[in-house]
Amino acid sequence: MKKRILLLAGGQSGEHEVSLMSARSVLAALPRDQFDVTPVAISKQGRWLPPTDTRQALESGAAGTGGDLVLHRVASAEGYDAVFPLLHGPMGEDGTVQGLLTLAGIPFVGSGVLGSAVSMDKVMTKQVLASAGIPQVEWRLAVRREWQSDADSVRRRATELGFPLFVKPANLGSSVGISKVQGAQELDAALDLAFSLDRRVILEAMTAHKPRELEVGVLGNDSPIASPVGELRFASEFYDYETKYTEGRASVHIPAPIPEEVAGRVRELALSAFKALDCAGLARVDFFYLEESGELLLNEVNTMPGFTQTSMYPKLFEAAGLGYSELVTRLVELALEER
Ligand code: ADP
Ligand code: MG
Ligand code: MG
Repeated sequence: MKKRILLLAGGQSGEHEVSLMSARSVLAALPRDQFDVTPVAISKQGRWLPPTDTRQALESGAAGTGGDLVLHRVASAEGYDAVFPLLHGPMGEDGTVQGLLTLAGIPFVGSGVLGSAVSMDKVMTKQVLASAGIPQVEWRLAVRREWQSDADSVRRRATELGFPLFVKPANLGSSVGISKVQGAQELDAALDLAFSLDRRVILEAMTAHKPRELEVGVLGNDSPIASPVGELRFASEFYDYETKYTEGRASVHIPAPIPEEVAGRVRELALSAFKALDCAGLARVDFFYLEESGELLLNEVNTMPGFTQTSMYPKLFEAAGLGYSELVTRLVELALEER
């Protein structure tokens, strides 16, 4: 019997288009002799689109308006063996959709409510990983109400970290709303921007002028494995939205040209983080590498990383001998596995 899979794509976050691209690749790669796949695109307004509109959204890379409210539609997810929520960012990767699917009793690819929610929030991630002894940059939390009522205390927190520093919305991805702040005169604008996108904002110290950036894939449930390590290189000041999504702005190196001992530590730290955060299925774990000191700092954990044929996560496992089609098949198997 073929397994019936519901593939969710699009969604309400700033990574809507990226998700539709990933879904197109996954749809093409799930073997037809094993899976009967139904894609459902979610519009930016959060409505679940019917089949013809979904097909059009996948082809054009943008979902129009219309569709049904999620609660009208989730009943139609009944009868599926598994759901592949290929959604990035808030309202998709952050435990919300995972909660809905858990309530509906349908197995799904990737982390559950806890792992998704904690990994989405950069502050929560840092707190959990600190308690697991994983090295990270120095950071401070600020919440919107404080910024409105006592801006000076937020500014003082930034000054403690020193400049340059990074200001980020705690729950976003694709570098949306992130600023590299060179000095006190740029701080307020960076905080205003980040608070316009999230109630919680993280301030982060920089440890080097421009650290090397390493990424590793993790695959599995309670006995996960780590992929080879990859490196991203780019000329821009940091890995911002434009650099991420403009063809030719960044290059990917797999395996990363680093000592074997460093790659080993990256893999070990990634597996510890995956377990500490109670992730499942897959995650891409990103690091800063300070070449002079040999130090590795964990930057973030992405529980639903970019998933086109050319995205880092599938490329990393391809380098380990696991092709794209086998990888997505494995992810569905992991979703169906007893934990
Ligand atoms: P996102 O979840 O949007 O990808 P990240 O936290 O990964 O956000 O930040 C995006 C990019 O910004 C990183 O890939 C890196 O280039 C740069 N960056 C973020 N934080 C720091 C930091 N503390 N030190 C140096 N560079 C950073
Ligand atoms: Mg991220
Ligand atoms: Mg990132």
